[in-house]
Amino acid sequence: QLEEWAKLVDKPSISKDGVRVELVANIGTPNDVSSALEHGAEGVGLFRTEFLYMGRDELPTEEEQFEAYRTVLEEMKNRPVVVRTLDIGGDKKLPYLPLPEEMNPFLGFRAIRLCLDRTDIFRTQLRALLRASVYGNLKIMFPMIATLDEFRNAKKIFLEEKEKLVKEGIKVSRTIELGIMVEIPSTAVLADQFAKEVDFFSIGTNDLIQYTMAADRMNERVSYLYQPYNPSILRLIKMVIDASHKQGKWTGMCGEMAGDENAIPLLLGLGLDEFSMSATSILKARSFIKELSKADMEKLAAEALQKSTIEEVMELVQEIVKTNQ
Ligand code: PEP
Ligand code: MG
Repeated sequence: QLEEWAKLVDKPSISKDGVRVELVANIGTPNDVSSALEHGAEGVGLFRTEFLYMGRDELPTEEEQFEAYRTVLEEMKNRPVVVRTLDIGGDKKLPYLPLPEEMNPFLGFRAIRLCLDRTDIFRTQLRALLRASVYGNLKIMFPMIATLDEFRNAKKIFLEEKEKLVKEGIKVSRTIELGIMVEIPSTAVLADQFAKEVDFFSIGTNDLIQYTMAADRMNERVSYLYQPYNPSILRLIKMVIDASHKQGKWTGMCGEMAGDENAIPLLLGLGLDEFSMSATSILKARSFIKELSKADMEKLAAEALQKSTIEEVMELVQEIVKTNQ
């Protein structure tokens, strides 16, 4: 089996009935790029930049960040690289950035909320990204977007930094797509409005499930509520994908669910365009998708959307997974 998968390293990801999707990698540092390429990644779907900020005692400088982003972009050649701006707070803390204790850190001051307040930190990161943008195919996405105003503010700051760099005579790419992570139910529900303004969506199911089910993703006692196959989650995913397609935009997924063998038939059927997962899952997923007909998976997804429990959804999916093993 491993040998069969290895043959797919340089191949596109195409369903049995000829529909192409993109299988890309989640990375945390520039060191992860070589493994992503060895495992056949068609791009990077999530570069979690918070790792550049962790394990040190001060903020990374613009120069340090520029080097990291440039390295990733250059090594990925012209493949798409989706960089997520700083997602700190919640469970992720920085020793040199003291934040007040919160009763509910996952519902608190994190990610884009923090960046729109500490615009000094945000602007430095955006400048580094803009400067690196000429070295490859950069796309930027903002984490934990809950309202359109947050996206508009983040975009405004991005455009201001771009303008400044251009005035300074520094080259920046003119074609950087700006997207958002869909991790908060309000954003999934309002995806039709967001889709008019963003260039793409990337669904962060780790958080989207946590917030939809109101179940802390770190709390073992409520882990039974962590239900990717809950029809409510599938419906939210469908709303987001459909909304993006209506506006000629694309939707990816970068939560764990995207690499989950049981989820892939459903996600293909729901019309997901890009699946971002750990590098080691890519070849297996590509070989699996090759055996699936998108038209059949659309029927499967339509059925799943009408179910009421995860057990019923799993029953549908298990048949598909078993027959393809
Ligand atoms: C997610 O929430 O699904 C996601 C990809 O972000 P993270 O796991 O880094 O919170
Ligand atoms: Mg998240």
